[in-house]
Amino acid sequence: MRLVVASGNKGKLREIAEILKDYDVVSMQAAGFAGDVEETGKTFEENALIKARAVCKALNLPALADDSGLCVDALGGAPGVYSARFCGRHGDDAANNRLLLEKLQNVPDGERGAYFESCVAVCFPDGREVTASGRTYGKILHRAEGEGGFGYDPLFESEELGKSFGLASAEEKNAVSHRGKALRALAEKLKEL
Ligand code: IMP
Repeated sequence: MRLVVASGNKGKLREIAEILKDYDVVSMQAAGFAGDVEETGKTFEENALIKARAVCKALNLPALADDSGLCVDALGGAPGVYSARFCGRHGDDAANNRLLLEKLQNVPDGERGAYFESCVAVCFPDGREVTASGRTYGKILHRAEGEGGFGYDPLFESEELGKSFGLASAEEKNAVSHRGKALRALAEKLKEL
């Protein structure tokens, strides 16, 4: 089955294609969607559904969206759904990471807990909708470690891997990540449709 991914984020698209190997995963640009979808939801699930519905409706094809972010204990769960635009601009990973380190400057090791969350949604032209979510826990490092992955990966030390996502291979990250867990749960639900 062909699934159009409702995201312009190349890091996400790569991970989705790696994990959903049984599907023909294509980017929304490749499928002919040039628009921009405003993320007005207050939860990951609301935003995933907003994006998947918009692209599904525009192309009349099954569309998959991931809405995800980093929730930091010492910041009361921020940046959360605002993770991509934490610094005020959308998608500036370097500036987002600098701001995160600055905000946690005086936070001691034992209080740097955080988790990534992903909600994935698939919408079909006939109106069916399927969602699933996943979380992965860890802590925020004092400086970047590694250059793999994308976004906050070099600053996030995974509890399950014992190292930063920036130092992990794609396979290692996908096996424990929020997106890996959400997409594998979604694939199970899609089989039952
Ligand atoms: P979205 O496009 O609104 O879902 O933005 C998600 C944002 O959360 C990304 O731009 C990253 O800043 C962050 N994020 C989500 N998942 C990951 C991940 O797997 N690694 C690092 N950062 C992530």
